Amino acid sequence: MAKIQAPRGASDLYPPDSEVLAEVEATALRLFDRYGYRAIETPTFEHTEVFLRTYGETSEVVLDKEMYTFEDRRGRSLSLRPEGTAPVARAFVEHNLGSKLGLPVRLFYSGWFFRYERPQKARQRQFHQMGAECVGSAEPLVDAELIVLAHEFFEQLGLTPELQLNSMGCVADRQRYGAVLREALADKVDDMCDDCHLRVEKNPLRVFDCKVPGCKKILRGDIPPITEYLCEECRVHYRAVQDTLEVLGVAWKDEPTLVRGFDYYTRTVYEFQAPEIGARPTVCAGGRYDGLVEQLGGPTTPASGFAIGTTATIEALGTKRPVRGWHPDVYIVWLGDLGGVALAAATDLRRAGLRVTVSDEPKSMKAQLRAADKAGAIRAVIVGPDEVARRAATVRELGTGEQREVLLDRLVTELAP
Ligand SMILES: [Zn+2]
Ligand SMILES: [Zn+2]
Repeated sequence: MAKIQAPRGASDLYPPDSEVLAEVEATALRLFDRYGYRAIETPTFEHTEVFLRTYGETSEVVLDKEMYTFEDRRGRSLSLRPEGTAPVARAFVEHNLGSKLGLPVRLFYSGWFFRYERPQKARQRQFHQMGAECVGSAEPLVDAELIVLAHEFFEQLGLTPELQLNSMGCVADRQRYGAVLREALADKVDDMCDDCHLRVEKNPLRVFDCKVPGCKKILRGDIPPITEYLCEECRVHYRAVQDTLEVLGVAWKDEPTLVRGFDYYTRTVYEFQAPEIGARPTVCAGGRYDGLVEQLGGPTTPASGFAIGTTATIEALGTKRPVRGWHPDVYIVWLGDLGGVALAAATDLRRAGLRVTVSDEPKSMKAQLRAADKAGAIRAVIVGPDEVARRAATVRELGTGEQREVLLDRLVTELAP
């Protein structure tokens, strides 16, 4: 039989890597809580329409056929979620969360997402993201607060990714700029890839998503930046985001070619980039998406949010990753038929907050003590027939080999100060 392995692009996480993920996640969850973001869980798969309606046909996910789309037994088209914002907006509309929770609604998610891409460093087909979405406010302050939240997250982990900032303006600005861009690219489009031909024709701003080096080079050339084509309101909005970041002491770099891959983004867009992880260094991407809720059949509702790439963040941490590890405080060694007594003692100690491993079988005392050492236990509690006859157990300090006898009903008091 062929060896069974995890599918390409999907990896197993086991200790200590699974614990690193949990630690990084815990850092984000603590911050989400302090900033007033509450948990939302949406399904791992959605009706494909949720994504098609929101991303637009020229977005990278749709163009590159990155979605895992399949039919269920009744022929309905479903897709594994490639990102978290559209599902949150769908849930916001479906459950009328604005009136249930009060606007603006602040929500966070943490979970697994799926895109069919060529697996590479820090880019897997199944990947973990943690995101925050503030639905129901158009204020630049909300954008700045979200950026600060992400900034704090990276700072707490000891990372200093570069914040790149831009404004994509409103729909009218983008249309105006689209025409400018189409004209600016008119004599260059022949040197661009096939996808870019389609983009220039249908939605010129999407050319900034292109990963083809030749296209990227052209776009770095003499192309007017979108920020020169913002209307007065969008200009003021963008200025306010920048001013607030300045007050907060958060550094950023203006990046006029930063255009997020989905059609629903408006005004503020940003990425945090950690170049140490390679060619695709984004560890967090976000922005304002004032049109999304309406696209999903809800009322006109401005919104803003970001997603942190958990795996990319861990990659960026390198040797700074928080490894907590695991070892028992107490390892219980037992002999003969005293497994029940051992487990009862363990339960008491665990209730008192100690990490306890109970030997799974009554091997020789020597073998069990060796196992306790290997597990990294601090102490062993030996439950043997002579001690139990005296309603006691032997406590052995594994570092020094020092031993003492403790009454069973005194164990918690002695070992869990
Ligand atoms: Zn505008
Ligand atoms: Zn291209």
